[in-house]
Amino acid sequence: MSTGVLAIQGDVSEHYNAVKRAAELYNIHEDIKLVRRPQDMEDITHLIIPGGESTTISRIMVNNGLYETIVNKARSGDLAVMGTCAGSILMAKTIIDDNRVHSLKLIDMDVRRNAFGRQKDSFEADVNIEGFGKYHAVFIRAPIIERCYGACKILGKVDDRIIMVQQDRFMALVFHPELTDDLRIYREFFKL
Ligand code: GLN
Repeated sequence: MSTGVLAIQGDVSEHYNAVKRAAELYNIHEDIKLVRRPQDMEDITHLIIPGGESTTISRIMVNNGLYETIVNKARSGDLAVMGTCAGSILMAKTIIDDNRVHSLKLIDMDVRRNAFGRQKDSFEADVNIEGFGKYHAVFIRAPIIERCYGACKILGKVDDRIIMVQQDRFMALVFHPELTDDLRIYREFFKL
């Protein structure tokens, strides 16, 4: 297994370190790489798209060819992808009220950016995640998944709002698993 962390902008080093810690904790043989250019994707089996600024990440990804490489590899079934926060926006088929972000369209869902308000409205909450119960989640200018349809499956909610989904080998979560000590989300991702 070879995990890549998309290293364009945002929580890159935090995810890198979390993958290392998770691999050690769960005893998984894991090779980890930073992905900046299309050629960095060659051996990658698991790709993480971090939180940050979805407009910036998508613009750079389209310009340097990574967008096309990731979409092709993901569609051919050779790649598991986890998008967190801004990364979850990039996983959506549709982004509501925003046409600046060029998403990868891997999950049958509609996402709204900054749905909980501005930076000051960031928060932490105990949420329920399917398969492992209570989980403490950190939300920073988080989007919301307004609709999950087709092959998309809901894995987590907070107050009736969808915060985590999965479709085939693709996962999207609107919070930041790299910022806590609870690494179970990574373990689930490695299983895909
Ligand atoms: N608000 C950011 C966006 O729309 C996401 C915030 C985050 O990733 N923490 O891209």
